[in-house]
Amino acid sequence: MARSRVPLVVANWKMNGLQADGADLARRIVAGLPGGAPETVLCPPATLLAAVARVLNGSAIALGGQDCHAAASGPHTGDIAAVMLADLGCRYVIVGHSERRSGDGGHGESDGNVLAKAAAAQAAGLTAIVCIGESAAENTRGETLEVLSRQVAQSVPPDSGASSLVVAYEPVWAIGSGRTPDRVDVERAHGAIRRSLHQRIGAAAADVRLLYGGSVKPGNTTSFVTLPEVDGVLVGGASLVAEDFIAICRAAGGQSAG
Ligand code: PEP
Repeated sequence: MARSRVPLVVANWKMNGLQADGADLARRIVAGLPGGAPETVLCPPATLLAAVARVLNGSAIALGGQDCHAAASGPHTGDIAAVMLADLGCRYVIVGHSERRSGDGGHGESDGNVLAKAAAAQAAGLTAIVCIGESAAENTRGETLEVLSRQVAQSVPPDSGASSLVVAYEPVWAIGSGRTPDRVDVERAHGAIRRSLHQRIGAAAADVRLLYGGSVKPGNTTSFVTLPEVDGVLVGGASLVAEDFIAICRAAGGQSAG
């Protein structure tokens, strides 16, 4: 991990948690996070943002949304504007997660939709965590690097910089599956993302944090975060278990996971 880029661990709780257990999970993470932990962000579902914001108040952990609309306000029933997230105390928002890009039970979001959402997030003062990643079929066909380059070119706002952008490489086939790419493939993918980012945003690309996501667990975190181009992790399932998430943060900060 390049030390000029501060390590980052992001929890994506997805559509999980009710008032009582969400606040309790956040409290246990706040209490258990070790000193020297990497920068940490919790992204609860929208219904829990206010409750988790209260728990995180005064802690070093930041709050993030899981999605935002591209417009600042208007007739978009059920959607949330980036400025509303900022108003609740969010500093980050995930955009372009594969579960939203998917047309199959997701929202069929295109690269263009993701670009507009990322730009809206940045305009509201949030850091956009732009998710990209190849499908299983694309991986099998050997198209991974091409897909990643296209997604960077078409989903990342051109005026992004280190404070307004994080890119998360999440192979679709690795999310929630227990399967992960090997280290060589992750390093190759992150190298390609960094190069594409350079073409897209210029020299600022060197300081943008690139996360790996997809079946990250306490036991495999070190193998990813010790790669030079991996600046942290985006964690789904394991972020719902306080002890596991804390162990991942430890490992991402260079401490022993347990
Ligand atoms: C995710 O959905 O962003 C994710 C990484 O999920 P999981 O860790 O459960 O694979």
